Amino acid sequence: MKCRKCGGKASINMRQHRLALCKEHYLEWIPEQTERFIKKYRMFTKDEKILVAVSGGKDSLALWDILTRLGYQADGLYLALGIDGGIDYSDESHRLTEEFAQANNLKLHVVNIEQEYGYSIPTLSLVSHRGHGKPCSVCGLAKRHEMNRIARDLGYDVLATGHNLDDEAAVLFGNTLHWSAEYLLRQGPVLPESDGLARKVKPLCRFYEREMTAYSIARGIEYIYDECPFAEGSQQIFYKEALNQLETARPGAKLTFYTRFLEARQSGNLFIEKDIEKAHLHPCPQCGQPTSTPDLCSFCRMIEKAKTG
Ligand code: SF4
Ligand code: ZN
Repeated sequence: MKCRKCGGKASINMRQHRLALCKEHYLEWIPEQTERFIKKYRMFTKDEKILVAVSGGKDSLALWDILTRLGYQADGLYLALGIDGGIDYSDESHRLTEEFAQANNLKLHVVNIEQEYGYSIPTLSLVSHRGHGKPCSVCGLAKRHEMNRIARDLGYDVLATGHNLDDEAAVLFGNTLHWSAEYLLRQGPVLPESDGLARKVKPLCRFYEREMTAYSIARGIEYIYDECPFAEGSQQIFYKEALNQLETARPGAKLTFYTRFLEARQSGNLFIEKDIEKAHLHPCPQCGQPTSTPDLCSFCRMIEKAKTG
């Protein structure tokens, strides 16, 4: 297989794009494509301040790397969750994120959930009785709350996460199976800023997971290989496996599934569009962030509940 650009030996073949590239041209192609998506979906400009949520995994570190290479002002945010899967999952991901920031001379904010609120994520899940065994719903809630809080408090224009196509297609698949109209309406490369909620963007949403792995390896980025120990057996992983089977039989299926959804939504052809009323938001009396629940926001309610047992 030959590189389409230089005719040299290809190191990656992307069947879904009918494109094979050598390492050097692949390392150019990824940022070029990212820039194209940033512009296409109007994510942000060079004048805006971007906060990248970094977990120490390949996608978020690659995103930080790409944005920096493209000349964007991107700082990092690492949330220390206190998850210990026997391999010090959180410590290791924190170490790799710090190393990346130092090696590239980038600014990293670190928020330690336990120091901030008195509980690690697994403990918070136990004491707030929200987890039903797994801490993922508590973790998701805390991450959303903290990312928005930091972005807002520190004056960032936009919050960027490293979700790739496999993540987005799996979420879309789940939302479609359940016909979760509200989630379907909110899913996309850009969630605009609204009433105290920072704009959220996903610049890697059109890259396959294997493309991001290949990028990170080719760039020599050291990332945490292990998934969070609580990810095992999750619905999300099950959907990903189902979509991978589909992709093997029909290369490009995942990309088509996701991009056609975005096109349909943009052209107003998703019938759900018409019936959804916007949830009414008010500021949480505790933390000031917007919420649709009466009185305290879900996050502050969870902390209260944890404290009172
Ligand atoms: Fe949090 Fe994800 Fe781990 Fe669940 S799998 S605890 S959501 S990091
Ligand atoms: Zn609150």
